[in-house]
Amino acid sequence: MRGMACLDEEQVEQLIRCDCAGCRRRAREGEPPVWNWRRQVLEAVNRTLRDLFRTTGVPRTPWRVLQSLQRHWPANPSLFPDRNTYYTVWVKVTDHLMRYVVSNREEDPPILLMEPLSMRVEELGITCSIHVQLAQWSEEGVWIRRFLVDDHPGVIDSCRYLTALFAKRYWGEKRVNLEVVSLLNGDSRTFCLSDESTRHLYDYLLLVRERFFDRHTGYIPC
Ligand SMILES: [Zn+2]
Repeated sequence: MRGMACLDEEQVEQLIRCDCAGCRRRAREGEPPVWNWRRQVLEAVNRTLRDLFRTTGVPRTPWRVLQSLQRHWPANPSLFPDRNTYYTVWVKVTDHLMRYVVSNREEDPPILLMEPLSMRVEELGITCSIHVQLAQWSEEGVWIRRFLVDDHPGVIDSCRYLTALFAKRYWGEKRVNLEVVSLLNGDSRTFCLSDESTRHLYDYLLLVRERFFDRHTGYIPC
């Protein structure tokens, strides 16, 4: 009998990018993925979003974004491929985050801000966990906002399907939209999560489990 597999979104993302023996071992043993410049940048972005969205009534100006991002930005470029990349990433991420945050017009406090969520899908023998950066009410229902550093298609898929699974559990029949913002190029994609069929989401989870967590590595016992 197989145990409960733990599909942590960060682990899934890392395995989509690289499923070498080392990454598989870390996933199997429940260790966080290797700390690299992408994760460092995302951490700075997450701290900045927390600074900007936890207070209401204070305008989210470009100056506040810049100040906060500067405070949290990795001081040491050693994890970046080179200094040029370090500065290029800084310029692009700052520019795109500024534009995004300033154009976000929702005034009410977010429903979720930097919220780790986890759930069990008993029928598949899977536990999933994700980290929602921002969820807000709007006239069209719930908007979930997820920020990624780049626009890797496999990572966007995993973000979309795992978030849809949670949206169904948390908001049921309500309309839930997802906006995925890729900060390096400023692209944003939107998906209506309410349209995803549960069958399709389960198929995706089983595929991820079979590809990364069952073969070679065995399941990750919870
Ligand atoms: Zn690897």
